[in-house]
Amino acid sequence: MRPLSTRPENARQAHLLRLLRDDGPVSRAELGEAVHLSRAKLVDELERLTEMGLVETSGMAASRGGRRSAMVRLASSLRFLGIDIGATSVDVAVTDGELRVLGQVSESVDVRRGPDSVLAVVLELVGKLRAEGLAVDIHGAGVGVPGPVSFRDGVPVAPPIMPGWDQFPVRTVLSQHLRCPVLLDNDVNIMALGEMHAGLARSVEDLLFVKVGTGVGCGIVVHGAVYRGASGSAGDIGHIRVDDDGPVCSCGNVGCLEAYFSGAALARDATEAARAGRSDVLAERLSESGTLTAADVAAAAGSGDQVAVELVRAGGGRLGLALAGLVSFFNPAMVVIGGEVAAGLGHPLLAEIRGVVYRRSLPLATGNLPIVLSELGSQAGVVGAARLISDSVLSHGDALDRHVFPRARIGATLDR
Ligand SMILES: [Zn+2]
Repeated sequence: MRPLSTRPENARQAHLLRLLRDDGPVSRAELGEAVHLSRAKLVDELERLTEMGLVETSGMAASRGGRRSAMVRLASSLRFLGIDIGATSVDVAVTDGELRVLGQVSESVDVRRGPDSVLAVVLELVGKLRAEGLAVDIHGAGVGVPGPVSFRDGVPVAPPIMPGWDQFPVRTVLSQHLRCPVLLDNDVNIMALGEMHAGLARSVEDLLFVKVGTGVGCGIVVHGAVYRGASGSAGDIGHIRVDDDGPVCSCGNVGCLEAYFSGAALARDATEAARAGRSDVLAERLSESGTLTAADVAAAAGSGDQVAVELVRAGGGRLGLALAGLVSFFNPAMVVIGGEVAAGLGHPLLAEIRGVVYRRSLPLATGNLPIVLSELGSQAGVVGAARLISDSVLSHGDALDRHVFPRARIGATLDR
């Protein structure tokens, strides 16, 4: 297996590599048409990419009438890691160059245990994949964390639910241990990228991805790229104030969206209802397990419990109202709702959100606007993280390089 010795030398090569990543194996003739290169120029560039170990020729395509054309694909040895650090668990996957998941492992770990313990779990999981022969030569790793991130510096910045992680050099530490380029982003942005690469938003260039988990956040994709804003906090919709006299939020403010509706808010409201004797179903679940979660609310709503149904309805309404404003402002081509809590609540939540958004946004913005539930589950984060780093590794003249990969050796063997 030949490791990557270098990265694309020019924008044409980068364009070819990304097309092969996103569309899979393709005939040389079709590739030439897609990038508007003469046959001679295309053959030149593909020869260079083959020498660099980035591209392979595999057999001949079916004839389209003329001469048969060779099939071209990304090198089968390309490997990316997608690392999704959640509030309560870590997922690590290894993908091929086309970002198909070859193996995925996960473990429960509370992010509040701090970077040392959580990153040790990450490296342990990478070790597991390596033991299976899946993550030996790694060309890059993307990482998502459940909090605000300085993308440029590769550090979390004052993350509310990640005590001990503020300014911790996650990117540098993982880059040193994994010996490959690493990029760090927040989990919502990587999920949005995952949806765009492998989910329902594959054909969409302008997208809002709303994650409902312990908190609420929004990934913004503009013209196919994540929009992070001036300092990296774009899409932090969980802290939009929806009411001046609402409950206190984890950020210290009052009346934030996620203080009304999120996994944490649902658990709090369900516990209150159970203790006040307003719901027998929730009270029974509370006495059985000692705590209530959003999953309990979903199950209770599914069995027809009126209090739980009302919690989902009210929460979906609040989220829908915030989304209606965002849709009017941004005019996305699609809204994808994802995250563990949204997946658990499912279609009743979706129906509520749709109802409010379609009622409150202008017809021009919602006329062709699909609002859908993510179908990727836990793969959205890991595939998106792999996509993030592959965008960088398969690019030419990436301005971030100087800051991001000062000493990284691309394609080095993981020998932790
Ligand atoms: Zn808040």
